[in-house]
Amino acid sequence: MYKKYRKSRYTIKHETQEGTLILFNTFSGAIATIEDVKTKEKVKTILREGLLCEPANELETELINQHFLVHHSTDENRLVDLMRDMEKNRKDHYELILYSTEECNFRCVYCFEKFLRGEMPKEIQQAIIKHILRKAPHINSLNIAWFGGEPLEGVNVIRNINKEVKEISKKFGFTFNSGITTNGYELDENLFRELVDLNIIQYQITLDGPKDTMMYKSLCKAFC
Ligand code: SF4
Repeated sequence: MYKKYRKSRYTIKHETQEGTLILFNTFSGAIATIEDVKTKEKVKTILREGLLCEPANELETELINQHFLVHHSTDENRLVDLMRDMEKNRKDHYELILYSTEECNFRCVYCFEKFLRGEMPKEIQQAIIKHILRKAPHINSLNIAWFGGEPLEGVNVIRNINKEVKEISKKFGFTFNSGITTNGYELDENLFRELVDLNIIQYQITLDGPKDTMMYKSLCKAFC
């Protein structure tokens, strides 16, 4: 049957043991939790069957606004390509992914790292700062993503670079944000506050699952 709106290919739904329906759209980043039994059933039906006409109530409108449902003519692959191209061709925004170290305090069984290089040498740190200084007059925003290894094993590198870049961003008037992908082992409240003060506002923390799974039993220097 002809559907005017269908479930986005990026919409994931999951029902918890407690009965909460969770919707997540990996493209828009929208998250919704639904507990009311009747609403849950309605949402499941709409996602399964789509909408045959324009939204007729608040619930249907919201599902469209949050991209859980998309118009039948939407080419979602093309949309992602366009967004990617737009980001790639932006001249006013600059993104850097930096490894503070290749070392790690964990040894997860699925890890691709070889842990060959330790903390980023001083001369590389200085070269990065010089590079950012050259970019500074031409950008409106800069994002630095810290990666590793375990980036917090090289936390002094993060301190040095983010502190300097924060000053540069004030001097040249661009927005500076930073993020980190970490196993979280070293991340206590004091360090977290310090990192937020260094503009690290996005945190991606790996969770390996409950104690009785293989993933949890990953060889880990920190616990052995
Ligand atoms: S925490 Fe990350 S870098 Fe460290 S061993 Fe595990 S996957 Fe590799």
